[in-house]
Amino acid sequence: MKIKLFILLLFIIDISVAQNAIIVVVDGARFTETFGATNPDSTIPHLWNDLMPLGTVYNNFYNSGITTTNPGHATLLTGTWQTIANDGSQRPTSPTVFEYFRKEKSALESENYVVAGKTKLTILTNSDDPDYGAAYMASDIHGDLTDDEVYVNLIAAMDADHPKLILVNFPSVDRAGHAGNRDDYLSAITNVDNLIYQLWYKIANDPYYKNTTTLFITNDHGRHTTDFSSHGDDCEGCRHLMLLALGRKIIPGKIVSEKKYQTALAPTIGELLSFTTTGAGDSSLFDASYLPATEMKYLTYHLIDSDVILNWETKIEINNYGFEVERSQNSMITKLQDWKSNGSQNPNWVKVGFVDGNGSSNLMNDYSFVDKSVPSGRYYYRLKQIDDDRKYRFSKQVEVVINKLPAYFLLVQNYPNPFNPITTIEFAIPSANIVQVKVFNILGMEVATLLNELKQAGKHRVEFDAGNLASGIYFYKVVSGDNLETKKMILLK
Ligand SMILES: [Zn+2]
Ligand SMILES: [Zn+2]
Repeated sequence: MKIKLFILLLFIIDISVAQNAIIVVVDGARFTETFGATNPDSTIPHLWNDLMPLGTVYNNFYNSGITTTNPGHATLLTGTWQTIANDGSQRPTSPTVFEYFRKEKSALESENYVVAGKTKLTILTNSDDPDYGAAYMASDIHGDLTDDEVYVNLIAAMDADHPKLILVNFPSVDRAGHAGNRDDYLSAITNVDNLIYQLWYKIANDPYYKNTTTLFITNDHGRHTTDFSSHGDDCEGCRHLMLLALGRKIIPGKIVSEKKYQTALAPTIGELLSFTTTGAGDSSLFDASYLPATEMKYLTYHLIDSDVILNWETKIEINNYGFEVERSQNSMITKLQDWKSNGSQNPNWVKVGFVDGNGSSNLMNDYSFVDKSVPSGRYYYRLKQIDDDRKYRFSKQVEVVINKLPAYFLLVQNYPNPFNPITTIEFAIPSANIVQVKVFNILGMEVATLLNELKQAGKHRVEFDAGNLASGIYFYKVVSGDNLETKKMILLK
Protein backbone atom coordinates (compact mmCIF):
# COMPACT_ATOMS: atom_id res chain seq x y z
CA MET A 1 0.00 0.00 0.00
CA LYS A 2 2.80 2.37 0.89
CA ILE A 3 4.63 1.47 -2.30
CA LYS A 4 1.55 2.11 -4.40
CA LEU A 5 1.04 5.50 -2.83
CA PHE A 6 4.67 6.35 -3.48
CA ILE A 7 4.37 5.48 -7.16
CA LEU A 8 1.20 7.52 -7.44
CA LEU A 9 2.95 10.49 -5.88
CA LEU A 10 5.85 10.21 -8.30
CA PHE A 11 3.39 10.17 -11.16
CA ILE A 12 1.62 13.25 -9.92
CA ILE A 13 4.89 15.09 -9.48
CA ASP A 14 5.94 14.15 -12.97
CA ILE A 15 2.89 15.49 -14.77
CA SER A 16 2.08 18.61 -12.78
CA VAL A 17 4.17 21.68 -12.23
CA ALA A 18 4.54 22.91 -8.71
CA GLN A 19 3.16 26.37 -8.23
CA ASN A 20 3.80 28.68 -5.34
CA ALA A 21 2.32 32.09 -4.63
CA ILE A 22 3.65 34.66 -2.20
CA ILE A 23 1.73 37.81 -1.33
CA VAL A 24 3.91 40.52 0.15
CA VAL A 25 1.96 43.30 1.85
CA VAL A 26 3.83 46.50 2.57
CA ASP A 27 1.58 47.84 5.29
CA GLY A 28 0.31 51.34 4.68
CA ALA A 29 2.62 52.58 1.92
CA ARG A 30 0.97 55.29 -0.15
CA PHE A 31 1.07 54.91 -3.94
CA THR A 32 2.64 58.36 -4.26
CA GLU A 33 5.69 57.04 -2.40
CA THR A 34 5.92 53.79 -4.38
CA PHE A 35 5.13 53.34 -8.08
CA GLY A 36 3.44 56.74 -8.20
CA ALA A 37 6.39 58.59 -6.66
CA THR A 38 8.04 61.52 -8.41
CA ASN A 39 11.42 59.78 -8.07
CA PRO A 40 10.62 56.09 -7.66
CA ASP A 41 14.21 55.13 -8.38
CA SER A 42 15.25 56.75 -5.11
CA THR A 43 12.38 55.57 -2.87
CA ILE A 44 11.92 52.06 -4.31
CA PRO A 45 15.12 51.53 -6.34
CA HIS A 46 14.91 47.72 -6.46
CA LEU A 47 11.21 47.47 -7.17
CA TRP A 48 11.52 50.13 -9.82
CA ASN A 49 14.79 49.20 -11.52
CA ASP A 50 15.19 45.49 -10.88
CA LEU A 51 11.79 43.92 -10.36
CA MET A 52 9.37 46.03 -12.40
CA PRO A 53 10.98 45.01 -15.74
CA LEU A 54 10.47 41.35 -14.77
CA GLY A 55 6.80 41.69 -13.96
CA THR A 56 3.47 43.34 -14.56
CA VAL A 57 2.60 46.56 -12.78
CA TYR A 58 -1.04 47.41 -12.10
CA ASN A 59 -1.14 51.18 -12.03
CA ASN A 60 -4.76 51.51 -10.96
CA PHE A 61 -5.08 48.98 -8.17
CA TYR A 62 -7.51 49.99 -5.44
CA ASN A 63 -8.92 49.23 -2.04
CA SER A 64 -12.64 49.96 -1.96
CA GLY A 65 -13.42 48.65 1.48
CA ILE A 66 -12.16 49.98 4.75
CA THR A 67 -8.67 51.37 4.41
CA THR A 68 -7.28 49.84 7.59
CA THR A 69 -4.94 46.92 8.18
CA ASN A 70 -7.06 43.90 9.10
CA PRO A 71 -9.89 44.54 6.63
CA GLY A 72 -7.38 45.23 3.84
CA HIS A 73 -5.47 41.99 4.45
CA ALA A 74 -8.69 40.01 4.80
CA THR A 75 -9.92 41.40 1.47
CA LEU A 76 -6.70 40.31 -0.25
CA LEU A 77 -7.08 36.78 1.15
CA THR A 78 -10.84 36.28 0.70
CA GLY A 79 -11.69 38.16 -2.51
CA THR A 80 -14.55 39.92 -0.71
CA TRP A 81 -14.88 43.32 0.93
CA GLN A 82 -14.28 42.69 4.60
CA THR A 83 -15.64 45.06 7.18
CA ILE A 84 -14.09 43.23 10.12
CA ALA A 85 -12.69 44.93 13.20
CA ASN A 86 -9.16 46.28 12.94
CA ASP A 87 -8.03 45.25 16.43
CA GLY A 88 -7.61 41.50 15.89
CA SER A 89 -10.89 40.59 17.60
CA GLN A 90 -12.62 39.39 14.46
CA ARG A 91 -11.66 36.88 11.79
CA PRO A 92 -12.55 37.18 8.09
CA THR A 93 -16.15 36.19 7.45
CA SER A 94 -15.55 34.58 4.06
CA PRO A 95 -13.01 31.76 3.49
CA THR A 96 -9.39 32.70 2.86
CA VAL A 97 -7.31 31.29 0.00
CA PHE A 98 -5.61 29.05 2.57
CA GLU A 99 -8.90 27.38 3.38
CA TYR A 100 -9.93 26.96 -0.26
CA PHE A 101 -6.52 25.53 -1.06
CA ARG A 102 -6.43 23.13 1.86
CA LYS A 103 -10.00 21.88 1.43
CA GLU A 104 -9.99 21.46 -2.34
CA LYS A 105 -6.41 20.31 -2.90
CA SER A 106 -5.82 18.53 0.42
CA ALA A 107 -2.96 20.92 1.08
CA LEU A 108 -1.24 20.73 4.44
CA GLU A 109 -1.25 23.39 7.14
CA SER A 110 2.53 23.66 6.66
CA GLU A 111 2.03 24.46 2.98
CA ASN A 112 0.24 27.67 3.96
CA TYR A 113 1.79 30.46 5.98
CA VAL A 114 0.97 33.83 7.43
CA VAL A 115 4.15 35.66 8.45
CA ALA A 116 3.08 38.95 9.99
CA GLY A 117 4.80 41.75 11.85
CA LYS A 118 1.59 42.78 13.64
CA THR A 119 0.18 40.52 16.34
CA LYS A 120 -3.40 41.38 15.44
CA LEU A 121 -2.92 39.76 12.00
CA THR A 122 -2.98 36.27 13.50
CA ILE A 123 -6.70 36.35 12.59
CA LEU A 124 -5.66 35.87 8.92
CA THR A 125 -4.93 32.15 9.26
CA ASN A 126 -8.58 31.27 8.69
CA SER A 127 -12.09 32.65 8.50
CA ASP A 128 -14.99 31.79 10.76
CA ASP A 129 -16.97 30.38 7.83
CA PRO A 130 -18.58 27.21 9.25
CA ASP A 131 -17.77 25.12 6.14
CA TYR A 132 -14.08 26.02 6.31
CA GLY A 133 -12.54 27.65 9.35
CA ALA A 134 -9.86 26.36 11.72
CA ALA A 135 -9.81 22.86 10.21
CA TYR A 136 -8.17 24.44 7.11
CA MET A 137 -6.03 27.07 8.75
CA ALA A 138 -2.59 28.26 7.70
CA SER A 139 0.58 28.06 9.77
CA ASP A 140 1.27 31.31 11.54
CA ILE A 141 4.30 33.31 12.58
CA HIS A 142 3.39 36.65 14.08
CA GLY A 143 4.43 39.24 16.63
CA ASP A 144 5.08 42.94 16.78
CA LEU A 145 8.19 42.65 14.64
CA THR A 146 10.36 44.87 12.50
CA ASP A 147 10.48 44.29 8.76
CA ASP A 148 13.95 42.77 9.13
CA GLU A 149 12.62 40.32 11.72
CA VAL A 150 9.67 39.44 9.50
CA TYR A 151 12.08 38.73 6.66
CA VAL A 152 14.22 36.39 8.79
CA ASN A 153 11.12 34.49 9.90
CA LEU A 154 9.81 34.29 6.36
CA ILE A 155 13.03 32.78 5.01
CA ALA A 156 13.17 30.31 7.91
CA ALA A 157 9.60 29.17 7.13
CA MET A 158 10.36 28.85 3.42
CA ASP A 159 13.45 26.77 4.14
CA ALA A 160 11.78 24.58 6.76
CA ASP A 161 8.42 23.82 5.15
CA HIS A 162 8.51 24.97 1.51
CA PRO A 163 5.06 26.53 1.85
CA LYS A 164 3.21 26.93 -1.44
CA LEU A 165 1.07 29.84 -0.37
CA ILE A 166 2.35 32.62 1.88
CA LEU A 167 1.08 35.98 3.01
CA VAL A 168 3.78 38.25 4.40
CA ASN A 169 3.05 41.49 6.26
CA PHE A 170 5.84 44.04 6.56
CA PRO A 171 4.61 46.52 9.23
CA SER A 172 7.40 49.11 9.52
CA VAL A 173 6.20 51.58 6.88
CA ASP A 174 2.79 51.95 8.54
CA ARG A 175 4.39 52.24 11.97
CA ALA A 176 6.79 54.97 10.78
CA GLY A 177 3.89 56.75 9.09
CA HIS A 178 1.82 56.85 12.28
CA ALA A 179 4.86 58.18 14.17
CA GLY A 180 4.70 61.17 11.84
CA ASN A 181 8.38 61.25 10.87
CA ARG A 182 8.55 61.58 7.11
CA ASP A 183 12.23 60.62 6.85
CA ASP A 184 11.61 57.44 8.85
CA TYR A 185 8.55 56.69 6.72
CA LEU A 186 10.55 57.05 3.50
CA SER A 187 13.53 55.07 4.78
CA ALA A 188 11.15 52.28 5.91
CA ILE A 189 9.90 52.12 2.31
CA THR A 190 13.45 51.95 0.97
CA ASN A 191 14.36 49.26 3.51
CA VAL A 192 11.41 47.04 2.62
CA ASP A 193 12.21 47.61 -1.06
CA ASN A 194 15.58 46.01 -0.35
CA LEU A 195 14.04 43.12 1.62
CA ILE A 196 11.62 42.36 -1.24
CA TYR A 197 14.51 42.37 -3.66
CA GLN A 198 16.37 39.90 -1.42
CA LEU A 199 13.23 37.77 -1.31
CA TRP A 200 13.02 37.73 -5.10
CA TYR A 201 16.70 36.85 -5.27
CA LYS A 202 16.06 33.90 -2.95
CA ILE A 203 13.05 32.78 -4.98
CA ALA A 204 15.00 32.98 -8.23
CA ASN A 205 17.88 30.92 -6.83
CA ASP A 206 16.09 28.43 -4.60
CA PRO A 207 15.61 25.05 -6.32
CA TYR A 208 12.17 24.69 -4.75
CA TYR A 209 10.84 28.15 -5.65
CA LYS A 210 12.74 28.94 -8.83
CA ASN A 211 10.50 29.13 -11.93
CA THR A 212 7.50 27.91 -9.95
CA THR A 213 6.61 30.95 -7.92
CA THR A 214 4.47 34.00 -8.50
CA LEU A 215 5.17 36.96 -6.23
CA PHE A 216 2.62 39.71 -5.59
CA ILE A 217 3.77 42.93 -3.93
CA THR A 218 0.94 45.10 -2.72
CA ASN A 219 -0.55 47.05 0.21
CA ASP A 220 -3.43 46.64 2.60
CA HIS A 221 -4.18 50.36 2.39
CA GLY A 222 -2.49 53.65 1.57
CA ARG A 223 -2.46 56.89 3.55
CA HIS A 224 -4.45 60.10 3.36
CA THR A 225 -3.67 62.17 0.29
CA THR A 226 -3.08 65.24 2.46
CA ASP A 227 -1.56 63.64 5.59
CA PHE A 228 0.87 60.74 5.40
CA SER A 229 0.65 60.09 9.15
CA SER A 230 -2.80 58.50 9.04
CA HIS A 231 -5.35 56.63 6.94
CA GLY A 232 -8.73 54.93 7.17
CA ASP A 233 -11.17 56.80 4.95
CA ASP A 234 -11.99 56.61 1.26
CA CYS A 235 -9.70 59.33 -0.09
CA GLU A 236 -7.54 58.63 -3.16
CA GLY A 237 -4.35 58.33 -1.08
CA CYS A 238 -5.89 55.75 1.24
CA ARG A 239 -7.32 53.67 -1.59
CA HIS A 240 -4.72 53.76 -4.32
CA LEU A 241 -2.34 50.80 -3.84
CA MET A 242 0.64 49.34 -5.59
CA LEU A 243 0.54 45.96 -7.21
CA LEU A 244 3.51 44.37 -8.89
CA ALA A 245 3.23 40.74 -9.93
CA LEU A 246 6.22 38.79 -11.10
CA GLY A 247 7.38 35.27 -11.70
CA ARG A 248 5.52 32.32 -13.08
CA LYS A 249 2.60 33.12 -15.43
CA ILE A 250 3.29 36.84 -15.32
CA ILE A 251 4.10 38.86 -18.43
CA PRO A 252 7.38 40.69 -17.96
CA GLY A 253 7.58 44.40 -18.66
CA LYS A 254 3.84 44.98 -18.82
CA ILE A 255 1.84 47.85 -17.35
CA VAL A 256 -1.89 47.41 -16.80
CA SER A 257 -3.81 50.68 -16.50
CA GLU A 258 -7.25 49.13 -16.19
CA LYS A 259 -8.76 49.63 -12.73
CA LYS A 260 -8.44 46.54 -10.55
CA TYR A 261 -9.33 45.89 -6.95
CA GLN A 262 -7.93 44.02 -3.96
CA THR A 263 -10.73 41.50 -4.39
CA ALA A 264 -9.11 40.25 -7.62
CA LEU A 265 -6.09 38.81 -5.83
CA ALA A 266 -7.75 35.77 -4.20
CA PRO A 267 -9.28 34.47 -7.47
CA THR A 268 -5.92 35.07 -9.18
CA ILE A 269 -4.17 32.95 -6.54
CA GLY A 270 -6.88 30.32 -7.01
CA GLU A 271 -6.22 30.24 -10.74
CA LEU A 272 -2.48 29.90 -10.18
CA LEU A 273 -2.79 27.09 -7.65
CA SER A 274 -5.77 25.46 -9.40
CA PHE A 275 -8.43 25.81 -6.77
CA THR A 276 -11.76 27.60 -6.85
CA THR A 277 -12.58 30.62 -4.69
CA THR A 278 -16.33 30.24 -4.67
CA GLY A 279 -16.99 33.02 -2.19
CA ALA A 280 -14.87 35.63 -3.94
CA GLY A 281 -16.72 38.57 -5.44
CA ASP A 282 -14.28 39.31 -8.23
CA SER A 283 -12.50 37.58 -11.10
CA SER A 284 -8.85 36.77 -11.67
CA LEU A 285 -6.42 39.44 -12.83
CA PHE A 286 -5.62 37.18 -15.79
CA ASP A 287 -7.96 37.12 -18.74
CA ALA A 288 -7.98 34.57 -21.52
CA SER A 289 -5.77 36.61 -23.80
CA TYR A 290 -3.37 37.44 -21.03
CA LEU A 291 -0.54 35.07 -21.75
CA PRO A 292 1.59 35.34 -24.85
CA ALA A 293 4.00 32.58 -25.73
CA THR A 294 7.73 32.20 -25.52
CA GLU A 295 9.41 33.42 -28.71
CA MET A 296 12.54 31.78 -30.03
CA LYS A 297 14.89 33.36 -32.51
CA TYR A 298 17.91 32.54 -34.61
CA LEU A 299 18.59 28.84 -34.33
CA THR A 300 22.11 28.59 -35.74
CA TYR A 301 24.98 26.15 -35.47
CA HIS A 302 28.66 25.69 -35.92
CA LEU A 303 30.82 22.61 -36.00
CA ILE A 304 33.91 21.66 -34.07
CA ASP A 305 35.06 18.39 -35.62
CA SER A 306 31.97 16.24 -35.32
CA ASP A 307 30.41 18.17 -32.42
CA VAL A 308 27.38 20.19 -33.46
CA ILE A 309 27.07 23.36 -31.39
CA LEU A 310 23.59 24.81 -31.61
CA ASN A 311 22.88 28.38 -30.52
CA TRP A 312 19.59 30.16 -30.16
CA GLU A 313 18.04 33.02 -28.27
CA THR A 314 14.67 33.95 -26.92
CA LYS A 315 13.03 37.31 -27.35
CA ILE A 316 10.63 36.70 -24.48
CA GLU A 317 9.94 33.72 -22.25
CA ILE A 318 6.64 32.94 -20.60
CA ASN A 319 6.54 29.95 -18.27
CA ASN A 320 9.29 28.35 -20.26
CA TYR A 321 10.07 24.90 -18.83
CA GLY A 322 12.80 24.34 -21.39
CA PHE A 323 13.87 23.13 -24.81
CA GLU A 324 14.10 19.62 -26.12
CA VAL A 325 16.72 19.45 -28.82
CA GLU A 326 15.60 17.14 -31.60
CA ARG A 327 17.56 15.66 -34.49
CA SER A 328 16.40 13.94 -37.60
CA GLN A 329 18.39 12.24 -40.31
CA ASN A 330 17.50 12.79 -43.93
CA SER A 331 14.21 14.31 -42.98
CA MET A 332 11.71 14.61 -45.77
CA ILE A 333 9.95 17.39 -43.90
CA THR A 334 11.04 20.75 -45.17
CA LYS A 335 7.93 22.87 -45.01
CA LEU A 336 6.91 24.73 -41.89
CA GLN A 337 3.37 23.54 -42.44
CA ASP A 338 4.43 19.91 -42.48
CA TRP A 339 6.43 19.84 -39.32
CA LYS A 340 3.85 21.88 -37.49
CA SER A 341 1.22 19.28 -38.23
CA ASN A 342 3.50 16.29 -37.68
CA GLY A 343 5.00 17.64 -34.49
CA SER A 344 6.95 15.25 -32.37
CA GLN A 345 4.85 12.37 -33.70
CA ASN A 346 7.15 12.21 -36.66
CA PRO A 347 9.32 9.14 -36.04
CA ASN A 348 12.26 10.80 -37.79
CA TRP A 349 12.81 13.17 -34.89
CA VAL A 350 14.93 11.93 -32.01
CA LYS A 351 15.43 13.82 -28.77
CA VAL A 352 19.15 14.34 -28.25
CA GLY A 353 19.08 16.63 -25.22
CA PHE A 354 17.25 19.07 -22.99
CA VAL A 355 18.09 22.62 -21.95
CA ASP A 356 16.34 24.32 -19.01
CA GLY A 357 14.39 27.47 -19.79
CA ASN A 358 14.39 30.66 -17.75
CA GLY A 359 10.73 30.55 -16.71
CA SER A 360 9.44 34.00 -17.52
CA SER A 361 11.81 36.64 -18.76
CA ASN A 362 11.74 39.60 -21.07
CA LEU A 363 15.50 39.58 -21.50
CA MET A 364 17.18 38.26 -24.61
CA ASN A 365 18.43 34.93 -23.30
CA ASP A 366 21.14 33.05 -25.16
CA TYR A 367 21.21 29.29 -25.16
CA SER A 368 23.47 26.63 -26.56
CA PHE A 369 23.61 22.89 -26.76
CA VAL A 370 26.37 20.57 -27.96
CA ASP A 371 25.46 17.36 -29.75
CA LYS A 372 28.73 15.50 -29.36
CA SER A 373 30.47 13.16 -31.80
CA VAL A 374 27.79 13.02 -34.46
CA PRO A 375 28.55 10.49 -37.21
CA SER A 376 29.01 11.81 -40.72
CA GLY A 377 25.81 12.58 -42.52
CA ARG A 378 23.13 15.14 -43.20
CA TYR A 379 20.97 16.11 -40.23
CA TYR A 380 18.18 18.45 -39.28
CA TYR A 381 17.91 20.00 -35.83
CA ARG A 382 14.98 21.77 -34.23
CA LEU A 383 13.90 22.85 -30.75
CA LYS A 384 10.74 21.82 -29.03
CA GLN A 385 10.04 24.62 -26.57
CA ILE A 386 7.89 23.35 -23.71
CA ASP A 387 5.82 25.46 -21.32
CA ASP A 388 5.37 24.64 -17.65
CA ASP A 389 1.94 23.26 -18.48
CA ARG A 390 3.55 21.10 -21.19
CA LYS A 391 2.17 23.02 -24.14
CA TYR A 392 4.89 23.19 -26.76
CA ARG A 393 5.98 24.75 -30.01
CA PHE A 394 8.81 24.10 -32.45
CA SER A 395 11.57 26.29 -33.75
CA LYS A 396 12.52 26.39 -37.39
CA GLN A 397 14.89 23.58 -38.32
CA VAL A 398 18.48 23.89 -39.42
CA GLU A 399 20.33 21.56 -41.72
CA VAL A 400 23.76 20.37 -40.60
CA VAL A 401 26.16 18.33 -42.69
CA ILE A 402 28.90 16.47 -40.87
CA ASN A 403 31.75 15.55 -43.16
CA LYS A 404 34.35 13.79 -41.10
CA LEU A 405 37.55 12.47 -42.60
CA PRO A 406 36.88 8.93 -43.71
CA ALA A 407 38.70 6.10 -41.98
CA TYR A 408 38.78 3.96 -45.11
CA PHE A 409 38.85 4.23 -48.85
CA LEU A 410 35.25 4.25 -50.01
CA LEU A 411 33.65 4.27 -53.43
CA VAL A 412 29.95 5.13 -53.50
CA GLN A 413 27.45 3.97 -56.13
CA ASN A 414 27.07 6.69 -58.77
CA TYR A 415 23.89 8.76 -58.76
CA PRO A 416 21.63 8.94 -60.52
CA ASN A 417 21.86 5.40 -61.84
CA PRO A 418 20.68 4.58 -64.47
CA PHE A 419 21.55 7.99 -65.88
CA ASN A 420 21.17 10.14 -68.99
CA PRO A 421 23.65 11.55 -69.81
CA ILE A 422 25.20 12.96 -66.57
CA THR A 423 25.94 11.15 -63.32
CA THR A 424 28.01 11.81 -60.19
CA ILE A 425 30.69 9.53 -58.78
CA GLU A 426 31.63 10.02 -55.14
CA PHE A 427 34.55 8.53 -53.28
CA ALA A 428 36.42 9.13 -50.04
CA ILE A 429 40.11 8.70 -49.25
CA PRO A 430 41.67 8.54 -45.75
CA SER A 431 44.87 10.38 -46.75
CA ALA A 432 46.11 12.63 -49.56
CA ASN A 433 47.00 10.69 -52.71
CA ILE A 434 47.02 10.71 -56.49
CA VAL A 435 43.56 9.56 -57.59
CA GLN A 436 42.59 8.17 -60.95
CA VAL A 437 38.97 7.82 -62.03
CA LYS A 438 38.41 6.04 -65.33
CA VAL A 439 35.37 4.73 -67.18
CA PHE A 440 35.31 1.48 -69.22
CA ASN A 441 32.73 -0.05 -71.51
CA ILE A 442 31.43 -3.62 -71.25
CA LEU A 443 34.34 -4.86 -73.40
CA GLY A 444 36.90 -3.42 -70.94
CA MET A 445 37.90 -0.56 -73.21
CA GLU A 446 38.66 2.75 -71.49
CA VAL A 447 36.17 5.41 -72.70
CA ALA A 448 37.02 8.32 -70.37
CA THR A 449 39.50 9.53 -67.76
CA LEU A 450 37.61 11.73 -65.29
CA LEU A 451 40.40 12.45 -62.83
CA ASN A 452 44.13 11.95 -62.50
CA GLU A 453 45.52 14.24 -59.83
CA LEU A 454 46.49 14.74 -56.18
CA LYS A 455 43.46 14.85 -53.85
CA GLN A 456 43.34 15.71 -50.14
CA ALA A 457 41.91 13.30 -47.57
CA GLY A 458 38.10 13.46 -47.47
CA LYS A 459 35.11 13.09 -49.73
CA HIS A 460 35.30 13.98 -53.38
CA ARG A 461 33.03 13.81 -56.35
CA VAL A 462 33.38 13.93 -60.10
CA GLU A 463 30.75 14.29 -62.77
CA PHE A 464 30.60 12.05 -65.76
CA ASP A 465 28.93 13.30 -68.96
CA ALA A 466 28.14 10.37 -71.28
CA GLY A 467 26.57 12.57 -73.95
CA ASN A 468 28.70 11.08 -76.71
CA LEU A 469 28.31 7.42 -75.66
CA ALA A 470 25.70 4.82 -76.56
CA SER A 471 23.26 3.32 -74.04
CA GLY A 472 24.64 0.33 -72.17
CA ILE A 473 26.55 -0.95 -69.18
CA TYR A 474 29.76 0.87 -68.17
CA PHE A 475 32.23 0.48 -65.32
CA TYR A 476 33.98 3.16 -63.35
CA LYS A 477 37.23 2.43 -61.57
CA VAL A 478 38.83 4.54 -58.86
CA VAL A 479 42.48 4.02 -57.95
CA SER A 480 44.17 5.74 -55.01
CA GLY A 481 47.52 4.35 -53.83
CA ASP A 482 46.93 0.70 -52.97
CA ASN A 483 43.17 1.08 -53.09
CA LEU A 484 41.23 0.13 -56.17
CA GLU A 485 37.55 -0.40 -56.71
CA THR A 486 35.25 -0.78 -59.69
CA LYS A 487 31.48 -0.34 -59.88
CA LYS A 488 28.90 -0.82 -62.58
CA MET A 489 26.59 1.87 -64.01
CA ILE A 490 23.91 1.98 -66.70
CA LEU A 491 23.50 4.64 -69.35
CA LEU A 492 19.89 4.72 -70.60
CA LYS A 493 19.25 7.15 -73.44
ZN1 LIG B 1 -2.03 52.12 10.07
ZN1 LIG C 1 -7.50 58.99 3.48
